[in-house]
Amino acid sequence: MAGSRGSYYSALKRITKAANSAFGLRKICNSVAKSTAKAMQANGCRILSLNSRKEYLITVGTYGLSDLYLKKGPLDARKSLPDILEGRAVFIADATEDERVQHPQVALAQGIASILGVPILERGQAIGEIRIYTREHRQFSEADKNFLFSVADVCAVIFERAELHQLLAQDYKASERRGKPSQLSPLPTTTLRPTRFAHPSEEDFAKLLDFYCIEWLYEPRSFPLRWEGGKIAEMFTPDFYLPELDIYVELTTLKQNLITEKNRKLRQLRELYPEVNVRLLTKSDFLRLLAKYGYGPLGEAKVEGVDRVLYNHARIQRRIRTLARHISRDYAGERLVLVGILKGVICFMADLMQHLSLPVTLDFMAISYYGVDGQVVKITKDLDGSITGQHVLMVEDIVDTGMTLNYILDHLSAHNPASLRVCTLLDKRARRLIDAPLDYVGFETPDEFVVGYGLDYRGEYRNLPFIGILHPGLTKGEQLQE
Ligand code: 5GP
Repeated sequence: MAGSRGSYYSALKRITKAANSAFGLRKICNSVAKSTAKAMQANGCRILSLNSRKEYLITVGTYGLSDLYLKKGPLDARKSLPDILEGRAVFIADATEDERVQHPQVALAQGIASILGVPILERGQAIGEIRIYTREHRQFSEADKNFLFSVADVCAVIFERAELHQLLAQDYKASERRGKPSQLSPLPTTTLRPTRFAHPSEEDFAKLLDFYCIEWLYEPRSFPLRWEGGKIAEMFTPDFYLPELDIYVELTTLKQNLITEKNRKLRQLRELYPEVNVRLLTKSDFLRLLAKYGYGPLGEAKVEGVDRVLYNHARIQRRIRTLARHISRDYAGERLVLVGILKGVICFMADLMQHLSLPVTLDFMAISYYGVDGQVVKITKDLDGSITGQHVLMVEDIVDTGMTLNYILDHLSAHNPASLRVCTLLDKRARRLIDAPLDYVGFETPDEFVVGYGLDYRGEYRNLPFIGILHPGLTKGEQLQE
């Protein structure tokens, strides 16, 4: 018998008190893990949070587990106990034999025999997990499971509160920068973050990654490098892991003695773990690496005038591949004329057409705006070829008020195409004045002035490989159209 009704009751009292304390997320979760493990007479407990895309689990609180066990790497959510994602409890009688355990040799070294995990649910969706570890083989009773489910419910509230705090902190900082009152907006990636970094440069780095919307994990894995008498004598823990790029990053300053030592460890790591992609980087090296992956302009920590990145390069490319699949499926067996409106559409058009598995031809139109507020549209370059009797897909960078689209659609319809549809990368629906039919939409964007990936402000910013929000101070309320 693990815990009695009385011990579970007093543990729940302690847990809810911790949950309602003013401490940070990690401290609260460590305290909850400790009370839970003790009440269940278990040897360890771990509280994990799922990242926003439900790909991996990150430890946010622990009790009774060694550093090595905790830093055995980010856990793949689909491989590690997939039942949790379905909202079900998982019981593992023998952790060293069960194929659902991702690092059984580490479990063996730690003397872990049984594991009980239950999902942390928010409105029926798994957002994390709480796990109990025992050294002896254990059968858990219904009372044990019910207790753990109750702790998981408390964890859901703790997570929600922590995310709200992060959201408020970020929003507060953003509004301070903009000099505007706080207006809550969703975080690009809602992952619970560690509260403490070992070094201020790591925090700077994390901010830079956030700016470029690159997901990161802080020190998620330790690699044993040297053993003495069966015990680990040396380990190496890279500072960051970037799951989207599958790269571990170790930051370094310019102090030569530190670089030499880190290089030695990295050489060892590469010999022992050849499948692991790890880089030793100075800040400027890192920016060069980002540029290679299409994230930032070379050598610039941040793009002057861009408040924050809304869609990074990888995300735009993923979305375009999906759009192209839908278009190719809908027009299967047909020929298609893509009509783009210059100049904002150039990047989108170039990437989209490369993923279409159809015979396509291209045509372009250019327009300018006149009138007091530039609200009247005039065609400055018309189509080169005829579209009569052809299937036409009009490709737009962004649909804002819908006036341009409406005008161009009228113009194109007059040429009697066989069909006429619209594909836009961005849909700023909140500002629509004329209801325009959109058949394919990349992203529904907030009501902010965006630049990059073809979109300009006064002719600049088109070359950025991402789409970002322009610092509101720059536009001062005007909306440039070209
Ligand atoms: P609409 O006629 O739908 O109001 O405006 C469409 C045109 O306005 C787009 O093709 C684009 O050139 C410009 N536009 C609208 N919103 C933005 C924005 O947020 N950023 C940029 N760079 N251009 C925009």
